[in-house]
Amino acid sequence: MEKTLVLIKPDAFGKNHAGDILKLYEDAGFKIIAAKVMKMTAELAAKHYVEHIGRPYYPALVEFMTSAPIMALVLGGDNVIKKVREINGATNPAEAAEGTIRKLYAEDKTKNAVHASDSEKSAAREIPIFFSACEIFD
Ligand code: ADP
Ligand code: MG
Repeated sequence: MEKTLVLIKPDAFGKNHAGDILKLYEDAGFKIIAAKVMKMTAELAAKHYVEHIGRPYYPALVEFMTSAPIMALVLGGDNVIKKVREINGATNPAEAAEGTIRKLYAEDKTKNAVHASDSEKSAAREIPIFFSACEIFD
């Protein structure tokens, strides 16, 4: 089964939108095969967002991601990586399509409600940052 890592970020999780967001993924036919609520550390953020270290928005991104709990998920299903990116919408909520999670729930370019892996390679790298093999039920 294809798998992707999703993070419900502090903005959306703190505003009690976890249920709304999970419903969109489940209604699209995807299975929640791992889930946890956790607070990201700066170390975890640096690992997860390694490609973004040095970008102008990186300090604000880490501050935001470590500010309050997140929900980490692994979703499974056919074409789940591409489909979940579509359900999430564009990185900048101002550019996100109607009905997407970022259009519905995101605040701005940094506080944009959700993360999802962008490729098979990213999913394979990101999932073990958050989950051990015994926490994933596929
Ligand atoms: P995505 O989350 O859509 O894959 P990126 O991988 O490009 O987007 O960026 C990772 C995260 O970094 C974004 O979700 C967002 O929280 C933050 N980010 C990216 N670009 C910007 C930017 N130009 N200004 C502020 N925050 C940004
Ligand atoms: Mg990305």
